[in-house]
Amino acid sequence: MDDTCRVIEVAEGWLYAVRDVNHRALMTHQGKYQARIAGAAIAARASGKPVDDTRWGAHAASADHTAVPQVVFTVPEAVSAGLTTHEAARTGRRVDVVDYDLARLAGAQQYTPGYKGRARMLIDPDPGTVVGVTFVGPGVAELLHSATIAVAGEVPVERLWHAVPAFPTISEVWLRLLETYRDMNR
Ligand SMILES: Cc1cc2nc3c(=O)[nH]c(=O)nc-3n(C[C@H](O)[C@H](O)[C@H](O)COP(=O)(O)OP(=O)(O)OC[C@H]3O[C@@H](n4cnc5c(N)ncnc54)[C@H](O)[C@@H]3O)c2cc1C
Repeated sequence: MDDTCRVIEVAEGWLYAVRDVNHRALMTHQGKYQARIAGAAIAARASGKPVDDTRWGAHAASADHTAVPQVVFTVPEAVSAGLTTHEAARTGRRVDVVDYDLARLAGAQQYTPGYKGRARMLIDPDPGTVVGVTFVGPGVAELLHSATIAVAGEVPVERLWHAVPAFPTISEVWLRLLETYRDMNR
């Protein structure tokens, strides 16, 4: 199938496949995303409008490849967006790995005293963008979309310095990860 979710193996291209059946990303939110993309592609084709199936185009389910968010609803929660260290190793992708202890954040202790958690950010050193984030800890599911935006937006690390997290929040982990990464490269 192609990124418009059209099953190209079927003659005349009338068949589309979204959600688990296509085995791209087996989660409810990702299946709904595919349905939005496929629906827009079908409508464009039916009305003779141009189809933008380039990477990140309106009719390409590009996020399935590099920016899938997922939550494991355990206690505490474990969440990730994009690449994990395991997947990077499996595919031979070279990434810089930055770790931070969430317990060190004032915002975490404010959230719940004795807070325990971990954060990991994966950076592609060339071009210097965030390609994966993993958080484990109480309440981190609500942090996940910030990571999804960074990964889907291919936000350069240099620009992330200007995304200022409010004090005292667990989101300050973003700043601590950047500081840790900077110090790793000194
Ligand atoms: C235990 C569990 C927990 C999950 N938790 C999450 C979660 O927290 N968040 C998340 O994003 N995703 C979660 N998922 C994944 C999510 O449920 C799936 O990605 C999503 O439901 C896929 O939607 P779907 O429409 O492809 O398939 P389904 O929701 O499975 O729907 C397929 C439907 O087709 C029917 N069907 C099958 N064969 C036929 C047939 N021959 N004729 C007619 N009907 C048929 C089935 O009965 C079913 O109703 C979880 C999955 C499991 C198993």
